[in-house]
Amino acid sequence: MRDFFLKNGLLSKHIKGFSERESQIKMAEKISSAIDRSSPLVIEAPTGVGKTFAYLLPIFHKDKKAIISTATIVLQHQLFEKDIPLISELFDKDVKVEILKGRQNYLCLLRFFNEKNKTDVKREKDLYNLISQWIGFTEKGDFSEIEDVSVSDSAIRKINADKNFCTGKNCPHFKECFFYRARKRCIDADIILVNHHLFISDLAIKSSDFGSILPPVDVVVIDEAHKFENIASVQFGESFSLRMLAIFFNQLPAELRLKYVQQFDFLYEKENLKLNKNEQAGRITGEQKRYFKILKETISMLIEDLKLIDEEDFELKNNLVKRAGNFINFVDLIDNKDFVSFYQIEDKSLMFRNIPLDVSEKLSNLFTAYYPCVIFTSATLSVGNSLQFFKKSIGLDRAEEYIFPSVFNYKENTLLYVPINIPDVAANGFVEESVEHIVDIIEKIGGKTFLLCTSLRNVKLFAEYLKKYNNLNVLVQGEGSNAFLIERFKEEENSVLIGSFSFWEGVDIRGEDLSCVIIDRLPFNRPDDPVFSEKSSRIENSFKNYAIPLAVLQLKQGMGRLIRDENDKGVFIILDKRIQQKWYGRFFYKSLFDLNVVHEKGKVLEFIYKKIINS
Ligand code: SF4
Repeated sequence: MRDFFLKNGLLSKHIKGFSERESQIKMAEKISSAIDRSSPLVIEAPTGVGKTFAYLLPIFHKDKKAIISTATIVLQHQLFEKDIPLISELFDKDVKVEILKGRQNYLCLLRFFNEKNKTDVKREKDLYNLISQWIGFTEKGDFSEIEDVSVSDSAIRKINADKNFCTGKNCPHFKECFFYRARKRCIDADIILVNHHLFISDLAIKSSDFGSILPPVDVVVIDEAHKFENIASVQFGESFSLRMLAIFFNQLPAELRLKYVQQFDFLYEKENLKLNKNEQAGRITGEQKRYFKILKETISMLIEDLKLIDEEDFELKNNLVKRAGNFINFVDLIDNKDFVSFYQIEDKSLMFRNIPLDVSEKLSNLFTAYYPCVIFTSATLSVGNSLQFFKKSIGLDRAEEYIFPSVFNYKENTLLYVPINIPDVAANGFVEESVEHIVDIIEKIGGKTFLLCTSLRNVKLFAEYLKKYNNLNVLVQGEGSNAFLIERFKEEENSVLIGSFSFWEGVDIRGEDLSCVIIDRLPFNRPDDPVFSEKSSRIENSFKNYAIPLAVLQLKQGMGRLIRDENDKGVFIILDKRIQQKWYGRFFYKSLFDLNVVHEKGKVLEFIYKKIINS
């Protein structure tokens, strides 16, 4: 395995600018050995190690069938379009690779033809005409092939392959259905690319042997694994939204709609739920529990009526009975002590969730039974030089673990500035005085700064104060899509991009376009977050054993935006002086990259002058 990665090895001969990296070689060797033993493995490999090649090479070399699951579509496309074709070419192998996405990414022909004939909205008509032409040549029916089309667009949602509308084998388009054809192709694929949501939902139904899509493989790679446990919690829970309830009602046979119209009018009126209108999320209260009790009684009666009704479309009838059963399962879980029940506003709809508090045992059993050789990897998994916190959360406590050092020289190329003469993060005037304190650093660097906030409130406040400096081009989350803001950030001079958590990860800006990352405060979870507070209440010494590790991982994600390449240079600023002054600060420092920390602004300006301006 080592030979492939050496200075004169296969990769170096075919990839321009390839450099030998000991961490990458070791990672590939560990993976190769885990595949031979069919054992689980957990690896932290920082940006720059080249982890995709480190797992692809052993898989190709050993001719193994694999599933690779990612958290982001960006990585999925990178693997599909660049990394896998390159390795196939090097090995001269005709490897069959398939991407399988969630159903919302595929066009449903049945819904499309219905909607196209029905709509008289101009925008939808234009879009559907464009899609008509696309149908003529698309092989996959994947909306990502159409430029500027988003799967969250309401016009696209009306025509996607959502399972709630699918009539399966009874559909006149079943044979040519894009989603079902994609599923079929996976059966013979050598490498299947999926996202964590799809992988976990498939894993969950494996034991029931009902509807599982993904075939058995030799090895599973979970890349961007830091997201895995959260997604598993959602996938192993039960949830429903008022939008789903409305869709369900509208699909009922006409006579049942008439019979239950009053109950449903009552049920999906938000006002009846007595929610706190200003909150984005909260625990399910006694008032709402009463609502769900009525929901359960209504739906139980409805199921009996559905079973009796003479409905020609069996597939639809079964689908409705199954979904009605899911609503009842949801209600039954509300007082289950192993779950936390809460609501949140999601995609502009009210969503209710029951989330299991611990998914480790279930994951452990499923991996042992179906995928004993699973490799978890990410740039951000360790806390204080250990992977135990992560491994415990996914039930693989005994899996082998490796933490590879960064290949970047943080000591030489970066500096962490923690100002200690600004107010505490909770004090009045924190934002205003912080801005006054750091603005000359930002100006000296020439913008090129990400200001990562822990709340939308701080995003607004920092934006308000920074916009007073006319020489800076202040870009603010919400004033355009994230992708649009990032493009502007790269193209326009003196840019400062201010954002909350959606900018803390998955953003990859290399080179001098991004030379400074500022963190407003240590990213502790909000105590009123329902899942966090419930989990905390069950963990001994939860601040140390749960809150700090989560915050450390989040901080590492945010800081990871700055150095993406070995030649990148830049300054980190943490405006929360608790990292310096509180006892728990050492846990953060211990987990960060090996870098120099300073508290004097003069040293920062000197570093910028020497390393960034004059380099
Ligand atoms: S099989 Fe289902 S998803 Fe496919 S076209 Fe028919 S209704 Fe749509």
